Amino acid sequence: MKNRLSHRLQNISYSQTLYMSQKARELRNKGYDIINLSIGEPNFYPPDFILNAAKKAIDEGYHYYTPVSGYLELRKIICKKFYRDNGLKYTPSQIVVSTGGKQSIMNVFLSVLNKNDEVIIPSPYWVSYYQMVKLCEAIPVIIPTNMKTNFKINPKQLEKVITHKTKLFIFSTPCNPTGSVYSYQELEDLVKIFKKYPKILILSDEIYEHICYAEKHTSIAIFSDIHHQVITLNGLSKAFSMTGWRIGYIGATEWISKACEKIQGQITSCANSIAQRAAISALLASPTKIVDMIKEFKKRRNLVLDMMKEIPGFQFNKPNGAFYVFPNVSDIFGKKFNGKIIKNSDELSNFLLEKAQVAIVSGSAFGDNESIRISYSSKDDQIIEAFTRIKKVLK
Ligand code: GLU
Repeated sequence: MKNRLSHRLQNISYSQTLYMSQKARELRNKGYDIINLSIGEPNFYPPDFILNAAKKAIDEGYHYYTPVSGYLELRKIICKKFYRDNGLKYTPSQIVVSTGGKQSIMNVFLSVLNKNDEVIIPSPYWVSYYQMVKLCEAIPVIIPTNMKTNFKINPKQLEKVITHKTKLFIFSTPCNPTGSVYSYQELEDLVKIFKKYPKILILSDEIYEHICYAEKHTSIAIFSDIHHQVITLNGLSKAFSMTGWRIGYIGATEWISKACEKIQGQITSCANSIAQRAAISALLASPTKIVDMIKEFKKRRNLVLDMMKEIPGFQFNKPNGAFYVFPNVSDIFGKKFNGKIIKNSDELSNFLLEKAQVAIVSGSAFGDNESIRISYSSKDDQIIEAFTRIKKVLK
């Protein structure tokens, strides 16, 4: 049969973070000594009290469909968490628990985006934002940023791209892939613009909120003038190392949470019941339970910055959050290896995988083809070995 795939599907590409990680896994299975710094996945183990809560949930018989937007008990605790950690006031009817942050984002997109609506995305952006917008047949409008401004946008840049077709703005702070963190003041400046355009929605991805090394994370929904425009997104994957449990959630104004509930009811029914029970104990716990993990990440960030100084052709800034570095590698372009010229970041990532056996992700997947993303969510010895190899092959 001829290709019968939808145009919508054919219009998007594979997730490069997952693709590179899969490639690394396959090569490892074939016996290659691959170090995988491609995926953003904490190498820590979820805390025991969460695992015990999941075991208890199995024993107590939580095997059935939950309410579409999640157990009421969990949604109440998410409201408490939003208030405790972010100063945000939501009620349980404004919360929707989903199968990972990705589903939360897609629920929102499907709820509000029409064909040809414009979605503003600062670049570098996380891979799936761009592709999900296209999947909805909406138009990604990119605001490019660079290292000089620590990959952050300013109000002028924002206002310049707003049109009557702008429906939504999506960003992450701390940012995947750059590790940048917007300060209170920087967000307040952007809020002045959003206030002028009350029809624009803001999807604030705060999945890395706890992984902040300088000042504390600020949620943009804290600004009361635009609170009703904001959808605050979070989840369990990064803070509690529970990537495979797939629990994400949003807090939003009710017409949006109800719309997400409607969509979710048709697509997945609800998030996994056992994972939701575990989420209750995870979110009840104070963030102090994960300070050791954050300390460890900070140490690793510093280690990576030190090691990158030694690598020829890497230019980089100091990221203040998440667990990624995003060096500009354009100085390496044009260099020859075995008669082959490395022309862009895709070719450099293939080169590093082949010659150094280190998997990273090309910046092109994040909207910046002069950079690469390296995740330092692996153990120290792996990181040291990876950078030693990268240095060696680039020399
Ligand atoms: N968010 C992580 C990353 O960027 C997980 C992989 C994914 O879902 O893209 O690597």
